[in-house]
Amino acid sequence: MQLSVATILQESATRHPDRIAVVDGDVRVTYRDLWQDALRLAARLRHDGVGTGDRVALLLPNSADFPRAYYAVLAAGATAVPVHGLLVAEEVAYVLRHSGSRAVIAAGALTAVAEAAASGTGVRVLPVDCGGQALAGPEPREPDDTAVILYTSGTTGRPKGALLTHANLVRNATVCARDLFALTPDDVVLGCLPLFHSFGQSCAMNAALGAGASLVLTARFTGPDALALMAREAVTVFMGVPTMYHALAEASGAGGPRPGGLRLAVSGGAALPVALLERFEDAFGTMILEGYGLTETSPAATFNRPGERRTGTVGRPIPGVEAAVADPRIEDRVVPLDDGERGEVVLRGHNVFAGYLDNPRATAQALVDGWFRTGDLGVRDQDGFLTIVDRKKDLIIRGGFNVYPREVEETLARHPGIAQVSVVGLPDDVKGEEICAAVVARPGAQLHPDELVEWAKERLGRHKYPRIVRVLGSLPLGPSGKVLKRELRETCA
Ligand code: ATP
Repeated sequence: MQLSVATILQESATRHPDRIAVVDGDVRVTYRDLWQDALRLAARLRHDGVGTGDRVALLLPNSADFPRAYYAVLAAGATAVPVHGLLVAEEVAYVLRHSGSRAVIAAGALTAVAEAAASGTGVRVLPVDCGGQALAGPEPREPDDTAVILYTSGTTGRPKGALLTHANLVRNATVCARDLFALTPDDVVLGCLPLFHSFGQSCAMNAALGAGASLVLTARFTGPDALALMAREAVTVFMGVPTMYHALAEASGAGGPRPGGLRLAVSGGAALPVALLERFEDAFGTMILEGYGLTETSPAATFNRPGERRTGTVGRPIPGVEAAVADPRIEDRVVPLDDGERGEVVLRGHNVFAGYLDNPRATAQALVDGWFRTGDLGVRDQDGFLTIVDRKKDLIIRGGFNVYPREVEETLARHPGIAQVSVVGLPDDVKGEEICAAVVARPGAQLHPDELVEWAKERLGRHKYPRIVRVLGSLPLGPSGKVLKRELRETCA
């Protein structure tokens, strides 16, 4: 059997050639043109010596160039290596070297970064040049061939290259589009998420384009801009990380336009505080479906769905995926725990990656007994809904007691003056670790650390209320909008 991620775009281009695939500022690209551009760039890559299975890096902004180049590399039978748009040249050079990329396709301001990274390596920097002949069709690939190598963003250490197969990505995009979000060609999906990250790439780009919907792209996210764009483009589906929902709720409170046609909002990538979900839903009258996944799981693994949603949980496994909770202390085997017990979330199914590139040790630690160990702590209820308690490595152990930062964050998020909060453990001579809450004030609110400690003390057990509160102007965020806890620990120490 043959299968290529490129057919996601090809099939929609056959079915709806004249519909708009991508909206990028004032530029509107039809499915026919996007697919023809991809086939021309694919022919160019083959002509330049890129062969089946070769790796080609992408250093591209969130513009129509991203899907053009992504599907071109895949149509050429090569493997795409989307590179994080905020890396400096030295970090990009690491990815180019580690992935063995033959070429890097770059555009805009990122071209200079690509050139600096590639200099002296023999890796060619190519533009998104869609002139010339088109390839007749995508090169055939097998379902288990690697389609994309996605480097984990490194919030937990040195980036690792997750090998995602054609089957992983095609099936995950199909399940997202059809079973979870019920996307149709009439949908307009706003993808503010970076396309080099798996959430934006699979759940927004591949799912929307596979469904024949229109994908609206923006290079940069702000609440007011996103609101204006939603109104202008009659967006029906928004996908974002919790920090984006926070920004949208703030912007709508400040009198921004309310997008009337928004039918669905999708959150993932980090825990969505229930207080924020409620605030957004009150303001927009649109339901948020929260899901959970990782780069290594393509990414969607569990999701809430309309009609079967439990707020505060990340839903149930998506079709074709199983989730269980395993004893986190036994690392070389997967020993399932009972429902209701806290442990490490393990996943198996169509979405689980093939391993880390050239890293057998990390692969063996992650893929155990046919399961993928996520490194997240969670609990499953008797109906199969999963709650993510925290990341294993973020767990704070204060005076011998386990403290889950997420629980402390949920509580502080309910304080009327707090806009954003993140909780970390700081080294402490007496307790081993001390609980520190970094908070950002809502506009106009004054936050006093001592008062917040008292406020938290009334609402949380003695072992888990934060003794240290730092009021910051903003939290350090990665490009996918997640709080960089490692950096935050340094800021707060
Ligand atoms: P790294 O793996 O290098 O730390 P990263 O955080 O960017 O980088 P991703 O694969 O993007 O890696 O993120 C996966 C992680 O995001 C999960 O392991 C989990 O901790 C967190 N996550 C995703 N969705 C949710 C959710 N709905 N609730 C809580 N946590 C979530």
